[in-house]
Amino acid sequence: MLELIAFDADDTLWHSEILYVNSQERILEILSPYSEKELTRQELYRAELPNLSIYGYGIKGFALSMIEAAIRLSDSKIRGSEVEQIIDLAKDMMKAPVRLLEGAAEAVEALSNSYPLMLITKGDLFDQERKITQSGLAAYFKHIEIVSEKTVDVYRSVLAKHGVDPSGFLMIGNSPRSDILPVIELGARAVLIPYHTTWVHEAADAVGEAPMNCIELEHIGLLPAFIEQLAQDSQVGAR
Ligand SMILES: [Mg+2]
Repeated sequence: MLELIAFDADDTLWHSEILYVNSQERILEILSPYSEKELTRQELYRAELPNLSIYGYGIKGFALSMIEAAIRLSDSKIRGSEVEQIIDLAKDMMKAPVRLLEGAAEAVEALSNSYPLMLITKGDLFDQERKITQSGLAAYFKHIEIVSEKTVDVYRSVLAKHGVDPSGFLMIGNSPRSDILPVIELGARAVLIPYHTTWVHEAADAVGEAPMNCIELEHIGLLPAFIEQLAQDSQVGAR
């Protein structure tokens, strides 16, 4: 029996990673007088990773990491006006209108008629709250959780808080590392809906074969029919 269905937000309900990809392409241009593009790309990622445990996830930490990499790649010769361009890119990202994935609103609305829904997203509180409000989807969710990390322990405490057993929990998301593997480890079920581009960090722990209790769907429009089938199957199993 499904007691609670939870959705990831970034790149599951609305576009996010594409903003980072586009900004990074612009930063490669800004830094091109100092460094060759492929080297810059690697250095940008290398600068971000250790900073996740300092800044957490989100655009502000991304911008600081990009500036740090720019200083290193330019051997401290980066100009103030070039740093300003990086800051402006980050501000544009923070102000970018929320663009829902095709079929996301319809799927959430349809499922909210039959199940309690939860939104669980990680990252910068201020930015996530803005996006949730702008998405127009907030009213469909019974619970909204903004967390710093999506680990097994975090999912366990969120479920305990709402009094839901893992066997009745289904998580839907685009990231194997954050949305699928910890949930499976907890004994719950998960639906992976890949986004067309995944940040290397989020894909890092992806396993070759889909684990038990996890199914992959091509797009979110297929979700309501899949869940209806799942509910029917479990009713048959209970007889
Ligand atoms: Mg996501």
